[in-house]
Amino acid sequence: MGITIVGVAAMASLAHAYNFDFDGAPGKHPLGSIGFYSSGCLDSDARIEGTEAGLLKLMNERDRRYGNPMMIELLTGLGAAYHHEWQQNGAPARPYERIQLGDIAQKGGGQVSKHASHQTGLDADVVYLRKDFRETKQNRGFEAGFDETFVHGKKVSANLDEVRQWWVWRFLYRSGKMNRIFVDGNIKAYFCKQAARLEPDDKAEREEVLRMLRPYPEHADHFHMRLACPAADAKCVGQAPLPPGSGCSDRELQHDPGEMEGRRAVSQSILDDEMDPFELLAEPQDDDHASPAGGVVHRDGSHTLPRECRQGKPR
Ligand SMILES: [Zn+2]
Repeated sequence: MGITIVGVAAMASLAHAYNFDFDGAPGKHPLGSIGFYSSGCLDSDARIEGTEAGLLKLMNERDRRYGNPMMIELLTGLGAAYHHEWQQNGAPARPYERIQLGDIAQKGGGQVSKHASHQTGLDADVVYLRKDFRETKQNRGFEAGFDETFVHGKKVSANLDEVRQWWVWRFLYRSGKMNRIFVDGNIKAYFCKQAARLEPDDKAEREEVLRMLRPYPEHADHFHMRLACPAADAKCVGQAPLPPGSGCSDRELQHDPGEMEGRRAVSQSILDDEMDPFELLAEPQDDDHASPAGGVVHRDGSHTLPRECRQGKPR
């Protein structure tokens, strides 16, 4: 099977509300997310301002508050809905904890310290919601990590508020914009057990929310949300869709070590054509092949940075 499937349809509609000229050429539309989550860059100046309802941006020293416009819109919408649901509708005296955001991407995207991904503005780190409603101090130094682990041994902390946490994940699932969410494997296992209580009425949706959660090490103090490529971002390289089912079996609760950095990656245009990406990538290939979205996908699933990202970061 040849790799000649180029979904050019998406290229015709580069419509962003933001005007950030990636390569300096006048009149060009911003490209949005370019390349793969762990090998790409970001052509957009959309960002979290820090004043959004329901959100608290942490780690501001690092200035990794830029994202694909779809990411910023989704986070802003999530914050507003969360604020409405858990603060305005609550009793006035009820304690309140905002959704606490860690790194998204730096301006222009590309590689940043501490992360393999976060390069295209489609990844964001978020603190688990806490029963004690504690908010982390916003600025704790350039290298600061998160300040509370929610797994002790293999046990999930009693401070993880599973009701609000499920609400957030269900909101993200319902947005239709998600690719996957990385969580600690013990936390996924915990939610596999709790889901029927948290969402008794809709088994199908419950399983879809669980399915989105992917076990991955080093996610005991935050979860990592990863969006699918926006349809208009013709240079964006997406990741293979998730296998069917809730992923709650013992075997599935073991993490797939290639998942964060993108083995099984596949170009968005191929996804748009509804081809089976697993089948595609399972094909023996004589050579590395050029991804239709730019950049090269190697036989081992690794990526070469797309041409558009090589001139260094824009501006
Ligand atoms: Zn992350």
